[in-house]
Amino acid sequence: MKKQFAVIGLGRFGGSICKELSRLGMEVMAIDHSPEKVDEFKDIVTHAVVANSTDEAALKNLGIRNFDHVIVAIGDDIQSSILTTLMLHELGVKHITVKAQNDYHEKVLEKIGAHEIVHPERDIGIRIAHHIVSKNVLDY
Ligand code: ATP
Repeated sequence: MKKQFAVIGLGRFGGSICKELSRLGMEVMAIDHSPEKVDEFKDIVTHAVVANSTDEAALKNLGIRNFDHVIVAIGDDIQSSILTTLMLHELGVKHITVKAQNDYHEKVLEKIGAHEIVHPERDIGIRIAHHIVSKNVLDY
């Protein structure tokens, strides 16, 4: 059976995860509280749903605990990111990946049950710095 993913938050990061998972043939449910965002993804993913992920009843209605992997890609609203992660953990989601905004956010996420924490902006900055240095070393 295909792995089932849910992505919460369809900004640049969450949106790009949705597109790539779909391109790889995975089942993807895309969730955002903005109807405009959800509309953008309706033809890309398996299901695109308008929901507020801090609403526990809404998460239960979506059957979120049955997904193999849930990605929380809410950036600016740290409170929503934390509350969503906590509820996913309490609902028994097997694998939760969360985008962290900063080190304090990461510390809280670790304590409340995130299985994997990512810092896309920081990590890509590090990779680009390494790439630039290695290119310069080769150029000399
Ligand atoms: P980017 O990945 O573009 O850098 P970002 O880190 O700035 O995005 P935000 O724009 O804060 O992230 O949030 C990403 C998405 O999450 C937005 O489309 C927003 O509507 C959605 N979002 C924020 N809070 C919730 C929530 N409680 N429930 C569902 N979706 C939410």
